[in-house]
Amino acid sequence: GAKSRGSNAWCFFHEDMTQAARERLELEARLRRALDQGHMRLYYQPQIDLQTGRLMGAEALLRWLDPEEGLISPARFIPVAESSGVIGPLGLWVLGEACRQGQQWRTAGLPDLTIAVNVSLHQFLLTDLVGATNQVLAESCFPAEFLELEITESALAEKPEDALAVLTRLRELGLRLAIDDFGTGYSSLAHLKRFPLDLLKIDQGFIRDIPHSADDMTISSSVIALGHAMGLKVLAEGVETREQLAFLQEKGCDYFQGYLCSRPVPAEDFTRLLEKARDGLPLVDIAVAAEP
Ligand code: C2E
Ligand code: MG
Ligand code: MG
Ligand code: MG
Repeated sequence: GAKSRGSNAWCFFHEDMTQAARERLELEARLRRALDQGHMRLYYQPQIDLQTGRLMGAEALLRWLDPEEGLISPARFIPVAESSGVIGPLGLWVLGEACRQGQQWRTAGLPDLTIAVNVSLHQFLLTDLVGATNQVLAESCFPAEFLELEITESALAEKPEDALAVLTRLRELGLRLAIDDFGTGYSSLAHLKRFPLDLLKIDQGFIRDIPHSADDMTISSSVIALGHAMGLKVLAEGVETREQLAFLQEKGCDYFQGYLCSRPVPAEDFTRLLEKARDGLPLVDIAVAAEP
């Protein structure tokens, strides 16, 4: 009858949840082990000046190099790291590694570049990010002015007053602040104006369908104008084609990142890009894109 069907339905649902919970726990334990055993890597993606084609910076992107599974994407494990608290030690490792690598490139006499590091919501609001950043900068000797922290719009929207306090203290350390995935969250423009920011990163979702989506072209050019009106630089994420590059150039966007220049690459490969930049070679032929 209805009762036994109800109870079966509950059982099915319950077992399903248990399975999901078990998988989460297993992933969490593997994640902790991977961090302890040195299986985490940072890849670096160039950030290019849209008007000159010059290399300006690099975004550090986390990879988990599992001996059996191979490369595991952050999309799969960052959410687990966030909800389990592993993001504390993991985020600290990312910050430390990025600053150590940045300082290594500096002491090798390679061109100055900003290193951008992603900070997740829990790391931003629930850990001592200011203290950790301060300590990492001191230990690595990497100058604060070359470090940029990327915070998503949603992290800022969650608790705007707390966010403002943390951002203000981070800015006092001398580093730069970027809003990541701009346009996908629900931050109020009024709050945005009060935050001490340097850069808006237009989410790649708005770049992907340029020049075929008139809406996305309107949104992107509006974000560029908005960012500039607020005194910020603007970077477009996920630029893959020359058409996209030409459009962004025309709209006065400052920087871009994307497969058109390079995928995120291991530090050793990024060193080659830096050597090219040092020798005055462009990483992207900007002039070609500007032609009609
Ligand atoms: P994100 O910070 O918005 O990073 C941009 C993502 O777009 C990266 O994916 C990058 O590889 C990808 N991408 C870059 N150019 C192109 C392009 O031209 N086309 C396409 N289709 N994709 C492009 P990835 O490396 O898989 O990272 C995904 C997300 O994981 C990041 O998004 C960021 O939110 C998070 N993440 C990565 N590393 C870290 C980290 O160290 N800490 C934290 N908290 N989150 C991280
Ligand atoms: Mg990012
Ligand atoms: Mg992004
Ligand atoms: Mg993203």
